[in-house]
Amino acid sequence: MSGEIIDLAVIGAGPAGMAAATVAADLGLDVTVFDENPAPGGQIYRGIEAVATKRASDLAMLGPAYEAGKTIVSAFRASKAKHQPNTSVWLVQKDRQLGIASGGRASMVQARRILIASGAQERPVPIPGWTLPGVMLAGATQGLLKSAGMVPSGPVVLAGNGPLLYQLGAQLAAAGAKVTALLETEARYGAALQHLPGAIASGGYLAKGLGLISAIRKAGVPIRRNVTGLKAIGKDHVEAVEFAANGRAWRLDCEVLCLHQGVVSNAQLTLAIPAKHEWNEAQRCWRPVTDAWGNTDLEGIAVAGDCGGIGGAEAAAHAGRIAACEAARALGKIDAPQRDTRASGDRSAWERHLRIRPFLDALYPPSRAIAVPADDVTLCRCEEVTAGEVRAAVRQGGTGPNQVKSFTRTGMGPCQGRMCALTVSEVIADQLGKSMAEVGTYRVRFPIKPLTVGELASLE
Ligand SMILES: Cc1cc2nc3c(=O)[nH]c(=O)nc-3n(C[C@H](O)[C@H](O)[C@H](O)COP(=O)(O)OP(=O)(O)OC[C@H]3O[C@@H](n4cnc5c(N)ncnc54)[C@H](O)[C@@H]3O)c2cc1C
Repeated sequence: MSGEIIDLAVIGAGPAGMAAATVAADLGLDVTVFDENPAPGGQIYRGIEAVATKRASDLAMLGPAYEAGKTIVSAFRASKAKHQPNTSVWLVQKDRQLGIASGGRASMVQARRILIASGAQERPVPIPGWTLPGVMLAGATQGLLKSAGMVPSGPVVLAGNGPLLYQLGAQLAAAGAKVTALLETEARYGAALQHLPGAIASGGYLAKGLGLISAIRKAGVPIRRNVTGLKAIGKDHVEAVEFAANGRAWRLDCEVLCLHQGVVSNAQLTLAIPAKHEWNEAQRCWRPVTDAWGNTDLEGIAVAGDCGGIGGAEAAAHAGRIAACEAARALGKIDAPQRDTRASGDRSAWERHLRIRPFLDALYPPSRAIAVPADDVTLCRCEEVTAGEVRAAVRQGGTGPNQVKSFTRTGMGPCQGRMCALTVSEVIADQLGKSMAEVGTYRVRFPIKPLTVGELASLE
């Protein structure tokens, strides 16, 4: 460790982390933002600076919500906050030491406060054949589109539910991809209806969603609803997708199948420290328990943005600014009334943006048949463990994900449980007739990112 102590270490340069760092630096804190990506932007604004300067013609295809990232990124660049790109945070301790790795070397950093703004990740979509090459999560396809302008050359099918699927459909259609169909697995309009007033009050989200659906339809992409029994078919690569809809069986040829069932909080860091978490039934994921300022139960460690509960990019930016005001108060730069005044605009905007969530959560729940798949479906891709093997481990006395992990090795591969944790717990909960809150999740251990022996050895 260098001996230097920074005021505020921010983990993640997405909208939450960038907005937090900009405000915190403005309030006089010494701030460093660590992010494993090469440039600021996070998931939604991935590669925005490079696209705006080198591929400006792609901005129209990626849409106005993406282009909006230019403002927040340039404010962050113009601030006094320091940015350490290509740096992964593999350890966070209760005494606010961080373990970071960059360029093949690891080091420790001491901070007075830590803001975890690690964002969201896609929910796993374990259907039969999902491990075939050519089957991708929608966000990964979108990541390639944003960062490298890569567009699938063969036929593409999108399947699942959630706003990102429609966003990707509109972007791929605008990019000239051959999108054969969008297969919607679940949309509960009846359940969502009661939340319509909140959705309307949240701003332009409904109009944005309808605009995406209309763009997909205008591009001639059929949208099939109430799709069940999704299967990716192929030998060495996905060749087709099979499903049932409108009372009949379908088969569509494709070279790329993009799956999506919404995003969930990326809580690996907060689970590993560990901060206190709760099961969010509406979003069907774990989230750290926080107060109104993003503070966790751990002294000086706060969260902002989607890692604290899915709220979307704009809510994330407001939450980041709110957390920055609290950091400045906690470190004596402003007092509580000044914090409250400075954060009040962000707080009301944050609350307004969150009003869309109950509508979206009710409209697009993850499909039960996918969340709790049949015995022959692989749940843990790294260790190639099937749902049937997890069920067998439960029959042998495994009462939760940690016992099942030691029986079957689920969650012990390179992704460290990110991709299987939710499904493994869903399968166990279903078999034992218990709730997810009762069954729990993996005990996450540091390092939460792969660390080489060379990197470890480089630690001073
Ligand atoms: C794949 C994907 C694609 C999405 N695309 C869209 C979209 O097109 N439109 C839309 O409205 N919403 C999209 N979303 C949702 C959107 O990303 C979020 O609502 C918004 O970006 C949340 O902002 P955030 O700042 O909380 O997190 P993010 O934008 O996710 O930023 C988190 C940052 O933290 C970094 N990070 C995480 N862990 C570590 C670590 N241990 N060490 C170092 N860095 C770390 C990540 O690299 C990332 O840059 C997407 C979500 C996902 C998962």
